[in-house]
Amino acid sequence: MKAKHKPVSIKCPYCGRPAVLRPASYVHKEKALEEYLYVCSNYPECNSYVGVYPGTLKPKGTLANGDLRNKRIHTHKIFDRIWKNKIMSRQGAYCWMRDRFGLSTAQAHIGQFGDYMCDELMNECRTLLSNHHIAC
Ligand SMILES: [Zn+2]
Repeated sequence: MKAKHKPVSIKCPYCGRPAVLRPASYVHKEKALEEYLYVCSNYPECNSYVGVYPGTLKPKGTLANGDLRNKRIHTHKIFDRIWKNKIMSRQGAYCWMRDRFGLSTAQAHIGQFGDYMCDELMNECRTLLSNHHIAC
């Protein structure tokens, strides 16, 4: 295994137990879209996990429960409208996000965001989109 394919050690933010690397089929059964997930070792009692970046074992962010997972997906959809509608380039949109919230490059990932940051980013994105007359 190459260095970038080494699992990392992360903890579940809800119950504090270590996350374990599992094939995505462990959670998603037949319709596994991602190769691997970091799943709370107390799953399914603690319904908390996060996917990896394609082709790596690098988690996309912190473990999230069902509500936060849905919220991150929704936030990403709104954020992606900025560059999909060519208000900015994709890179420019991430740069705007970092500036707006004073985030480092490592922090500026929706996968790292909790509830509060998802709300804040959605609000900022909605304002930007409506200033450009793009419906949310
Ligand atoms: Zn947990």
